[in-house]
Amino acid sequence: MAQIKCPHCHTQYQIDNNDLGRQATCTICGNVFVMMETVGRSTPVPQQSYSANPDVENEIISGRPAWRYYIFDIIISLWLIPFFGIGILLLLITIWRRCASKYVLTTKKLKIINGIIIKNEITIRIEDIRAISIKRNLWDVIFCTATLVIGTSALQSAECFIKHIGDYKFMQIKIDELTRR
Ligand SMILES: [Zn+2]
Repeated sequence: MAQIKCPHCHTQYQIDNNDLGRQATCTICGNVFVMMETVGRSTPVPQQSYSANPDVENEIISGRPAWRYYIFDIIISLWLIPFFGIGILLLLITIWRRCASKYVLTTKKLKIINGIIIKNEITIRIEDIRAISIKRNLWDVIFCTATLVIGTSALQSAECFIKHIGDYKFMQIKIDELTRR
């Protein structure tokens, strides 16, 4: 079956496919027209899957150091606030330290940004990553965070750090997956 429409009064009719292209007279308005399919089997456009195309760069994860890593700094800062405002200064420094660091992992590269005013931005292509290891200090162990050490063939200073992040396991797995492709 096909659906047609009178071009004059827009009345819709269901007709047999074999009648398409034939002349018809609208029973409502008497208009004579050639039956053409108007509404019907529209072929759905095949959708490209989001990550299937290897040429497209997609962001996988981005983040900053975990807040919980700074919890003692924050508590001490708050405790010091009554003392000449030094606590406020310490609190701002803690917030600044956390917000100054950022990492972005895409399907093509890893970007590590340190600093707000003077930005130190490192971009490593996935294929240049040679090794990835986890470094933890006592606070990292307590707060379940870790620093990822990225070994790369692209930089003079062979290693770079993503400090005190909470998603380190996910990051490690993802980078591992990407470097193996
Ligand atoms: Zn009509």
